[in-house]
Amino acid sequence: MMQEKGTISIHTENIFPIIKKFLYSDNEIFLRELVSNAVDATQKIKRLASLGQFGGEVGQPQVEVSFDKDAKTITISDNGIGMTADEIKKYINQIAFSGATEFMEKFKEANDANEIIGRFGLGFYSAFMVADQVEIQTLSYQDGAEPARWICDGSTEFEITEGTRAARGTDVILHVNAESEEFLDKFKLQGILDKYAKFLPVPIKFGTKTEYEADGEDADGKEKTKEVEVDNIINDTNPIWTKAPSELKDEDYLNFYKELYPFSEDPLFWIHLNVDYPFNLTGVLYFPKLKNDFEFQKNKIKLFSRQVFITDEVKDIVPEFLMLLHGVIDSPDIPLNVSRSFLQADSNVKKINTYITKKVADKLGELFKNDRAGYEEKWGDIGMFVKYGIISEEKFYDKAKDFVLLTNADKKNFTLNEYKDQVAATQTDKDGQQVWLYTNNRDKQDAYIQSANRKAYDVLVMDSPIDNHFISHLEQKLEKTSLKRVDADVIDKLIKKDDAPAHILTEEQGGQVKIIFDSAINKPAFKVELESLSPDELPVTVTMDEWMRRMKDMAAMGGGMGFYGSMPDNYKVVVNGNHKLISRILQTEDEGEKSRLAKQAFDLALLSQGLLTGSELTEFVNRSVEMI
Ligand code: ADP
Repeated sequence: MMQEKGTISIHTENIFPIIKKFLYSDNEIFLRELVSNAVDATQKIKRLASLGQFGGEVGQPQVEVSFDKDAKTITISDNGIGMTADEIKKYINQIAFSGATEFMEKFKEANDANEIIGRFGLGFYSAFMVADQVEIQTLSYQDGAEPARWICDGSTEFEITEGTRAARGTDVILHVNAESEEFLDKFKLQGILDKYAKFLPVPIKFGTKTEYEADGEDADGKEKTKEVEVDNIINDTNPIWTKAPSELKDEDYLNFYKELYPFSEDPLFWIHLNVDYPFNLTGVLYFPKLKNDFEFQKNKIKLFSRQVFITDEVKDIVPEFLMLLHGVIDSPDIPLNVSRSFLQADSNVKKINTYITKKVADKLGELFKNDRAGYEEKWGDIGMFVKYGIISEEKFYDKAKDFVLLTNADKKNFTLNEYKDQVAATQTDKDGQQVWLYTNNRDKQDAYIQSANRKAYDVLVMDSPIDNHFISHLEQKLEKTSLKRVDADVIDKLIKKDDAPAHILTEEQGGQVKIIFDSAINKPAFKVELESLSPDELPVTVTMDEWMRRMKDMAAMGGGMGFYGSMPDNYKVVVNGNHKLISRILQTEDEGEKSRLAKQAFDLALLSQGLLTGSELTEFVNRSVEMI
């Protein structure tokens, strides 16, 4: 009878207590590691058979996870390749690092269990995170192999003896430790399997479940059913990302989405990823309907490696602007078990990132080209992605400039080039610059929009949180074009033309108007200027300079313009010298009445801007009542 005792060659006595302690936080991954090993073992036997190196019966590959609450064991069984006693010594006993010193050195840099396990090939040893004792019962596929048993109590001592397994394959039996008894629970284990093993390529059995089967008809001709116990297979061995797009219908993608996110609305569209050079990657990315709580929708992409779930933190693999996408990515080429900083520098990760950006841009371009109406319908949802992508990725802008849409106040959509043509005739100023007008609040800026419309100018709606940045970006990219908020100045000043209306007031009258308004308003933050606008423009308009406002907006958003943030709001009060009210004020004899009219006109301007509040509003209302 064979029997051997020995020491696991890692040259340190207390390595397992350290592993256990450090890895405690995500100790549930022991199951991922052991089930993956079992799946690998069943795939190896298939490969050997196909290479002609194994002539026996391969059978249906299967992995089974079971537990025994009384015996306090969890068992992972497979009908895979098995191991001889020599192979156990080779693969299990010699942990894949050269010595304790090196291990301890590297251990210090490691951030979490994943990383340690990956770096040091400790997959199997993760079992000691939850077990006092780990036992292997195995029978190798090789001709004449004898069953072997290995047992180890988490010290560096192990024992190999003759085993009891009669059929090819391996059982790994965990004698669960006192702190980990929570794992001896059906729902706990089912939950972990659902998380990590749901799409493994080999059926994973976990207990049985009851199903109802047709069982003929009863005496009254009603259909009968009977209860049958069937294997509870927890996984889908052939998830859609492993299939060719040509095999799949829309329905399949939608069903898969439902399976991943049972509580979400249907996605807008999806992209099937499939590359094998220069890296391997498959997956399906979905564009969800966006909700306001973005944070909640983030981190919904699941990362797999050969169908084993790894994480839903895909930050470095997926470009930042696509973090709101949903779906799955599967790549054996992503180094899964290394630190974040390494991931960021990894060239495969960079290539994957670039690839995904390109794929998404191509897909959007294709949708735009093939179904413009459908694309416009979805713009409300995809606009965010596209604008964010344009701002954050130069390569994305190069493609997206052809399908990013601008929406005007009449809800018409234009591409950048279409819009350029649309406004060229009307909104080119005397220096040959195009001025694009926009509003970020249609209700508040209605008076200004109407002024613009009277001139046959178009006004874009830019009211999403990202538009501030998007506007600055557009200005950098577009030639001879600037964007101005429609209330940044009176319309004739926003787009300066040569045909400005002539002054009807004399210089002296102009001076008087300024004095009247200055003393009526009597606020240093409001600077009065006299302009000769067309007579049908409002008599008084209050504006804030576009540039100053942008600086303040950026300061408010934490954009490092703190200095501007601390400046008081400064407004320009444009008095339209050509309006008949101004002439009337000049002709009014009574000084008090002059001032009252000026104040009233000013308050009306504030009111239309939403700037008139509190006691000033009350005063205005009272004055208006008197004047009626
Ligand atoms: P890795 O899987 O990264 O190689 P592990 O520590 O998880 O590291 O496993 C070490 C080795 O032990 C495996 O490469 C495999 O050769 C062997 N092994 C582990 N589990 C099984 C199993 N269920 N059946 C056959 N061989 C196994």
